[in-house]
Amino acid sequence: MTRKFYITTPIYYVNAHPHIGHAYTTIACDTVARRQRMLGADTFFLTGTDEHGQKIERAAQAAGKTPQQFTDEVAAEFRTLWKRMGISNDDFIRTTEERHKKRVQELFRRIRANGFIYKGRYTGQYCFSDELYVDGARPGDPCPICSRPTETVEEENYFFKLSAFQDKLLELYANADFVRPETRRNEVISFVRSGLRDLSISRSTFSWGIPVPDDPRHVIYVWLDALANYITAIGFGSSHAGAQEAFKKYWPADVHMIGKEIVRFHCVYWPAFLLAANLPLPRAIVAHGWLLFEESKMSKSRGNIVRAETILDVLGADALRYFLLREVVFGQDGSFSFDALVQRYNSDLANGLGNLASRTLTMINRYFNGEVPYPSHAAARTPADGVIREKAEMVIAECSQFFTDHQFSAALESIWIRLIAAVDKYIVDNEPWSLGEKQDENSRSRLATVLYTSAEALRIATALAHPVIPDATARIWAQMGLGDIKSVDLNKLAWGQLRLGTKLNEIQPVFPRADKSAIERMQQMEDERRSSTIEEAKLPAVQPAVAQAPAAPPAAATPASGPATDNAKITIDDFAKIDLRVGVIKVAERVPKADKLLRLEVDIGTEVRQLVAGIAEAYAPETLIGRKVVIVANLAPRKLRGLESNGMIVAASPEGGKPVLAGFLEDVPIGARLK
Ligand SMILES: [Zn+2]
Repeated sequence: MTRKFYITTPIYYVNAHPHIGHAYTTIACDTVARRQRMLGADTFFLTGTDEHGQKIERAAQAAGKTPQQFTDEVAAEFRTLWKRMGISNDDFIRTTEERHKKRVQELFRRIRANGFIYKGRYTGQYCFSDELYVDGARPGDPCPICSRPTETVEEENYFFKLSAFQDKLLELYANADFVRPETRRNEVISFVRSGLRDLSISRSTFSWGIPVPDDPRHVIYVWLDALANYITAIGFGSSHAGAQEAFKKYWPADVHMIGKEIVRFHCVYWPAFLLAANLPLPRAIVAHGWLLFEESKMSKSRGNIVRAETILDVLGADALRYFLLREVVFGQDGSFSFDALVQRYNSDLANGLGNLASRTLTMINRYFNGEVPYPSHAAARTPADGVIREKAEMVIAECSQFFTDHQFSAALESIWIRLIAAVDKYIVDNEPWSLGEKQDENSRSRLATVLYTSAEALRIATALAHPVIPDATARIWAQMGLGDIKSVDLNKLAWGQLRLGTKLNEIQPVFPRADKSAIERMQQMEDERRSSTIEEAKLPAVQPAVAQAPAAPPAAATPASGPATDNAKITIDDFAKIDLRVGVIKVAERVPKADKLLRLEVDIGTEVRQLVAGIAEAYAPETLIGRKVVIVANLAPRKLRGLESNGMIVAASPEGGKPVLAGFLEDVPIGARLK
């Protein structure tokens, strides 16, 4: 019988647009799924979006949309991005789908029927950003995850008897594979040992969620709703025979891959819910670290989130996939920068694999009419040929171990350093181009051996790297005349399978070299996008956290912007932190090659500030001179197109329209403060 393999990403919370943090987790899962398929497993790879909860309700409101419209749009962005990135998910679940809602209610019923749900009164602190009840916190205390102030909620709730599962959970963690890596496992053990209190699992103060069965005034706690996706998507709770069969086949999951900030939900709550419903437990929960941008945390509030699209536009999906898995040691925090990305792309992909493929295949074309030659006699072999073979065999074995352990960077290091670099050196040492000049039989034999050895090493490196860089490797495979790379059986991959006489197809470079301007182009694309969304700063205080976007740290890892009390309102003290001042525009000019940007010099009484503003489409620079405007004077400086912008100009940004500068009907002195 075929072995099954079921892997999941967390479902991403749609209050944030997709960025490379989300991409990172998804790429890692995709790589595992693709490798499992090549190992012959009946693989099911699930991803999706988490769409309920008060935070979404508020974000939709702020954007002037219904929650359904809002979530439809963001969910579509995720789907589109995954397609562009070559993500091979078998299903995409949205928690607003009927199938999910019904099955979550079935899970709730089952847990209730088993006696683990009761009704009670909850008074306590809640973090809306993380959708987390904070046990033991007092009003105003910060959230332990994001350090934003918690809000007091008081309501009649359904409670889950989490306290009943303390011992069972601790037993579970005795299996070292259940939570990985070790640091996360220890964290979870100490949390559970410190004592578990029952968990409120319903809310009645808002409605954007799944109604509690038989008591629709309550909606089900968003984490119970979200976690259940792992079973609802594959058929739990369905009355259809086909769905029931799928559930039986694929559950339990082999791997839930998550970011480290959602460990508690996955390793404590989720297994407890499953135990309460008498369902089997997942085999492993694997947590990775955060992706930092140039060493600092990537977050919406810092404005340094990098979109995957920018990288896809300039370097392609394989470049991003390779970089993230090669550069970041899985489980630890890793850093992203455009410089490092381009450097890696050039050294490993363009000069490494890409160059090995093009030089090897080009020489086979030139010297052997595009047919893979075979060394004709032993005399034409040297120990160096055997060394390449040994290295290839070692790399096959190492990769098997490293990929199984989710050590992606070690696996890629093995392929690139042990094998690809060795073959490069082998080619340089053996000078096939010199051998090709000679017509004697020994030189021809030697040439055939060198090219066969190089091509066979290329074939093995290509097959092993396929789960990580599926597009380029599929093209190299096809150029080698080997057909569809998906049909490779990795269990059987071994030296010597490249057949004599294999006819090459047309050769085309797979990784054209990227020059320095690629870095600039990507930075500019990101700067422009940020400056074109100046209206974001004027939205109500919707918490911009990424509760379930695993790779990105919750935005709130930055200091909270102030005590957000009831319903995202801010206090007068919060407002007082914003230094709004009247200024007069002294200089205004276009920023070269940036259609939306103007460079302004604004006199605010005490000094003249340089600002870069995304208003070029609405105002000609010459019309702005002498105009009084409102600027946010104490905004941290940032760079746009290499220009430092000290502050932000305040403008209304009508939906779909051009920005309109704020101004005054009466005369007002320069430097006056708005309060
Ligand atoms: Zn929080």
